[in-house]
Amino acid sequence: MHEIKIAEDLSAIVLETAKRESLSKVTRVNIIFGQLVQIVPEIFEYAFRETVRDTIANDADVFIEIVPVKMKCIKCGNDFLVKENRFKCNVCFSTDLDIISGKELFIKSIEGE
Ligand SMILES: [Zn+2]
Repeated sequence: MHEIKIAEDLSAIVLETAKRESLSKVTRVNIIFGQLVQIVPEIFEYAFRETVRDTIANDADVFIEIVPVKMKCIKCGNDFLVKENRFKCNVCFSTDLDIISGKELFIKSIEGE
């Protein structure tokens, strides 16, 4: 259930940003997660709602975008999307890979008034 810890961290950032931007209300939060973060969106959203309860982000809509896992083969240079956790180059079958995307975990933007 790492969703709770992540929700706490991200809600702290949301509230800090809202304060810095002098918002009186946060209406929308756009969050990016890489697939490797293995978030369950429903659990995350529930945890997030709990952590922002009675704050200016209480009524914010939460939008989650999941970024697929993309890897680059160090051996042959092929880049490919990882499907079903098959961490193997689909050209030369090497397992010597660099992660290009899939580990993201950040707030893309927040909206408010
Ligand atoms: Zn390869």
